[in-house]
Amino acid sequence: MIQRPRGTRDLLPPDTRLWQAVEGVARDVFGSFGGEEIRTPVFEPTELFVRSVGDSSDIVNKEMYTFPDRKGRSLSLRPEMTAGVARAWIENHLGDQSQPLRLYYIGPMFRYERMQHGRYRQFSQIGLEIIGADTPIADAELLASMHEFFLRLGFTDLEIHLNNLGDPEDRARYQAAIREALEPRRAELCSDCQRRLDENPLRILDCKVPACQVIAAGAPAMDELAGEASRRHVAEVEAQLQLLAIPYVRNRRLVRGLDYYLRTVFEVVSPQLGTNTVLCGGGRYDRLIADLGGPAVPGVGFAIGEDRLVEVLPARFRDAVLARSAVYVVPIGDAARARVLELARGWLRSGVPVELEITGRSLKSALKRADREGFRAVAMLGEDEMRGGTVTVRDLAGGSQSAIATADVPAWWRALPPAGERAGRAES
Ligand code: AMP
Repeated sequence: MIQRPRGTRDLLPPDTRLWQAVEGVARDVFGSFGGEEIRTPVFEPTELFVRSVGDSSDIVNKEMYTFPDRKGRSLSLRPEMTAGVARAWIENHLGDQSQPLRLYYIGPMFRYERMQHGRYRQFSQIGLEIIGADTPIADAELLASMHEFFLRLGFTDLEIHLNNLGDPEDRARYQAAIREALEPRRAELCSDCQRRLDENPLRILDCKVPACQVIAAGAPAMDELAGEASRRHVAEVEAQLQLLAIPYVRNRRLVRGLDYYLRTVFEVVSPQLGTNTVLCGGGRYDRLIADLGGPAVPGVGFAIGEDRLVEVLPARFRDAVLARSAVYVVPIGDAARARVLELARGWLRSGVPVELEITGRSLKSALKRADREGFRAVAMLGEDEMRGGTVTVRDLAGGSQSAIATADVPAWWRALPPAGERAGRAES
């Protein structure tokens, strides 16, 4: 039997309903304040990621799916989206449009990760980029809409961790300070971190090896070495978050695994999953577009890991989405079976979500199924009903049952009270 590649998943119903609902909220929230969707290719020239994400990053070093095409050009499956958005901005002259641009995306990313829970080789990200504004209020607006998105899904306990990465001019000083602090303990670091100590000491702060984390705790904090401009910038972002009553914590060790970030960086963690499990990461990248050969245009953005998000969705949202909101229409006998599709199509057209019994089940077995599957209501059509032009409808949440004219089904459905926790009628 052929199996799917390691690290990939089949998303099956009813979970796909959760994905659609989450994506619907994302489109709603991120499309609501001037946001527009962008879609870029899933593969790009390898060089794009080497020049943006950085050739000392784990993502580029170890995790990219890179292959030559038939003409020998090196291509890579995108491991993240910001680089592609920046490339598209330059290539399509999006700078000719009035700025800023607020661009959101939803789509698959690819990283050759070691197998572990919550880490996949194909995973989906939902992200937002604000390009063309370098003000702290742009960062705050971005964080506010991210916060709104999580609130709409029912999250109340997520933590935003925030840090100041400084400006690139500060970076060399900071790298030197980390190197100086950690050099005496070189031998205790993992082999990756020994290499990082020479190439990019900042990355050591991000290492997942527990021994390295202990050693990294002795490194100086970036904020102490950052220049005045970046400190003022991040302080203003914090002031805005406080005004908006969006809770956050300063995390001085937060660096992020991509090279292009500066000033504001942040992550969102779920205490339920532990602080090692990050649901969202982002930050400011004012030099990225220029580094890729475009003009000096600033940007700030984030990416939410959709797979993990769906795994930890609050129960209320989950239950409401998974509740079967339809009316299960059950024909009994040949006369009813002959006409049921026609009736059901009419109800559907009038806005009643119906699901037809089409396997020939008996009434008893159909009622059992209705209960098991959590349908909102059942509509039964037998010989008597066919003769009288009626249908027997049963409210499965309230338990009441009555015979109504087939033409009255839409009005009956609209009057049906919400079923509460058991079958909270999903928005239709
Ligand atoms: P990053 O681009 O590494 O900052 O990732 C942003 C978010 O995408 C993370 O916070 C995760 O939620 C998610 N993510 C990153 N890599 C993976 C992966 N291999 N599998 C599932 N989700 C991932």
